[in-house]
Amino acid sequence: MAGSVKYKIATLGSHSALQILKGAKDEGFSTICICTPDRVSLYNRFNFIDKILEISTFSDFPKIENKLIKEKAIAIPHGSFVAYLGVENNKKMKVPYFGNKRVLDWESDRLKQRQWMEKAGVPVPKKFASGDKIDRPVIVKSYGAAGGQGYFFAKNKTEFKTKIKNFKAKNYIIQEYVIGVPLYVHFFYSPISKELEILSMDKRYETNVDSLGRIPSQNQQGLGIEPSFVVVGNSPLTLRESLLSEAFQMGERVVATSKKIIKGGLWGPFCLETIITPEQKFSIIEISCRIVAGTNLFIDGSSYSTLYWNKPVSTGRRIAMEIKEAIKRGALSKILN
Ligand code: AMP
Ligand code: AMP
Repeated sequence: MAGSVKYKIATLGSHSALQILKGAKDEGFSTICICTPDRVSLYNRFNFIDKILEISTFSDFPKIENKLIKEKAIAIPHGSFVAYLGVENNKKMKVPYFGNKRVLDWESDRLKQRQWMEKAGVPVPKKFASGDKIDRPVIVKSYGAAGGQGYFFAKNKTEFKTKIKNFKAKNYIIQEYVIGVPLYVHFFYSPISKELEILSMDKRYETNVDSLGRIPSQNQQGLGIEPSFVVVGNSPLTLRESLLSEAFQMGERVVATSKKIIKGGLWGPFCLETIITPEQKFSIIEISCRIVAGTNLFIDGSSYSTLYWNKPVSTGRRIAMEIKEAIKRGALSKILN
């Protein structure tokens, strides 16, 4: 590998670690997996992981930071970094971190996130400032919810008022429930080439909302079943080609706006979580500013990533490619925080 320093790629053993570390190894990096004792046997199975560092809980991550710095490790954040360490500890991380940490504050605050999307001119679901204003079906989301947990559906104002009484979260948003199909688009923005790529797409498999249709509505009557949105898996998908151009444009506007409102802007992998209505209109329900778990479907590349690269490129591998390119150009500081 170019450069005199031999950098290593490290991540927490969870979420999309296998994809990230496999991609790093395919690009010639040494790899480190940081995990809890119960997961060592899992990660030991894979020979693309060179070293396993054990910590008793993920929140002990700061205790091994000095070791990682000595190893010349570059940390690749994924869903578990915020879920288990929290935003503040992510910001405090001393190990070089792939991505812009300033984005974390914008992403974790649902109102700021919305401001960003609105400024970018991407369509977002209607938001209701209070329960009294509700005039259509809504979904109520607590702040910091992960994997669809902590949401409820209300078909009107009256149902909202009943359900909110038992809702534990203090901070939440009330969003129009968009009727359509969910589509998660996995982007990668390179601050080096300044190009935006769509690397893959997925749809989530959520319990129980994705199975309610298996029981006809007349049989559901009286059962009091409530839809829930807890993700348990992901399936691959390709988008109707005529909608692809709009997907790219939305991604580009989100990146361009990030440069105006966040110092340094957004770079690396991110995901626009959309619902597409019968009128073929996108509605952006959320942005995730890092590698998302749906990319795990494409460890061997996807029908989109193959359009750019003549080798199987996952999001994990694309990250490693960007780091490699930055090392070659002496531009690591451009992509690390
Ligand atoms: P886990 O590795 O299952 O402990 O998950 C770590 C974090 O990633 C949690 O916040 C999960 O909710 C989230 N997560 C894991 N898998 C998925 C998935 N397939 N889709 C969305 N979020 C996920
Ligand atoms: P999120 O955590 O925002 O990605 O949402 C998790 C899941 O909740 C999505 O995959 C959808 O199934 C559902 N969902 C969230 N927001 C909406 C919305 N505004 N309209 C319809 N479904 C939604």
